[in-house]
Amino acid sequence: MPISFELSKNSVLAREHYNKIALEQMRPVSREADTREHDLPQQWVDFWWNEGRKGSPGDPTAEGDGFVTVCIQAEELCFGDAGLYLRMPTAALGGSAVGAAGTPEQREKFMEPFKSSPHPVWGAMAITEPGAGSDSAAIESTADFDDATQEWVLNGTKIFCTAGDGASQVDGGFVVVWATIDKSAGRGGIKSFVVPANTPGMELVGLEKKMGIRASDTATLRFDDCRVPRENLLGSAEVRGKGKKPSGDKGFKGAMATFDASRPIVAAMAVGVGRASLDFLKEELARQGVTIRYDAAPHELTAIERDVMEMEAELQGARLLTWRSAQMMGQGKPNNLEASMAKAKAGLAVTQITQRAVQILGPLGQSQKLLVEKWMRDAKINDIFEGTQQINQLIVARRILDYSSAMLR
Ligand SMILES: Cc1cc2nc3c(=O)[nH]c(=O)nc-3n(C[C@H](O)[C@H](O)[C@H](O)COP(=O)(O)OP(=O)(O)OC[C@H]3O[C@@H](n4cnc5c(N)ncnc54)[C@H](O)[C@@H]3O)c2cc1C
Repeated sequence: MPISFELSKNSVLAREHYNKIALEQMRPVSREADTREHDLPQQWVDFWWNEGRKGSPGDPTAEGDGFVTVCIQAEELCFGDAGLYLRMPTAALGGSAVGAAGTPEQREKFMEPFKSSPHPVWGAMAITEPGAGSDSAAIESTADFDDATQEWVLNGTKIFCTAGDGASQVDGGFVVVWATIDKSAGRGGIKSFVVPANTPGMELVGLEKKMGIRASDTATLRFDDCRVPRENLLGSAEVRGKGKKPSGDKGFKGAMATFDASRPIVAAMAVGVGRASLDFLKEELARQGVTIRYDAAPHELTAIERDVMEMEAELQGARLLTWRSAQMMGQGKPNNLEASMAKAKAGLAVTQITQRAVQILGPLGQSQKLLVEKWMRDAKINDIFEGTQQINQLIVARRILDYSSAMLR
């Protein structure tokens, strides 16, 4: 099969479109949004809702190449500002979960406000708990079915929920909450539930103060007898696990499949932040009269030239892995291995590239007059959420060795 590294015309147009937004709409408000953590970046939110999301050439969510375009959008907008990217009014991870595990009726119902609401709306996904992060099977939040009212009753606490403020407080949005309906079944009992914004019993208890992506709202949510209709369960209520009947529902595995779509996007976000640092570094070096001699023999290279070339190679490698995992996703091919490879590679690459840029730039790298120090702070999260570096490496090892999660943990 021929290998093509060319982007489609649609992807190239999308790249230009989102690059313009990054430079004209995001960069000018980047520092202010970082400084005023927890304040809604109103100008950006309104721009995205009313204009930005509508002007894209083609449909980035289309099948096939469309998913590569979604990653190009993530790279370009995070080249602008990763915190503002995460603060945009979109269905985000909550939408991915509804798309992956929901029925056509559920998709229609829960995604409708993202098309038609007169005001901006947000979606979020709440998996992490005080005692369950990397090991999401350790979730303790519960969902009990009330036969009398035909409702699910949710109880528990969720932490570090991206967009959790907007998604829980603004009508039309929703939070997809993972909870167990049967603790004795382990992973088999874990299901996801759509909790619409402002449902009684869902309380926003706090917002995280963070090192990076400070424009993004990261919430703690408490669920106290929070009731949602029966049909807000994504997938089937049948339980698989110890002593339980197998069912056709993919359950926990199905919920985990959301990551196969979200990891390429996070990898693309990382590439965007890394490129912001690297581009700035190269421009600054050029201003200082330092040119990178790509045709020089290895023994003639200066330390700076070698550094820049290594940073470029890391970034390109991460981007190619990202696009490959995205293309497979769009083509409906299993991409679990490739998505984790891209995420692990890009998470590490962005962390190293942004730190090296700060180091090479010396005092300029430290100064808050520039954004380089901010990009270093914004970088690290890409190596943490949607599976840490270690967890993604573990997944890669399992897939290559054909080991189950019980065999390699
Ligand atoms: C800004 C931000 C936004 C977030 N957004 C969301 C969100 O929207 N929704 C959501 O549900 N969660 C979100 N999270 C949570 C995030 O996904 C978790 O922090 C992450 O999964 C790690 O879990 P943990 O924090 O419990 O760390 P732990 O699982 O306790 O891990 C601590 C360390 O141990 C390592 N480790 C753990 N297990 C293993 C192992 N088996 N082998 C080797 N090393 C291991 C980890 O790699 C890590 O370095 C967010 C987090 C942050 C910081």
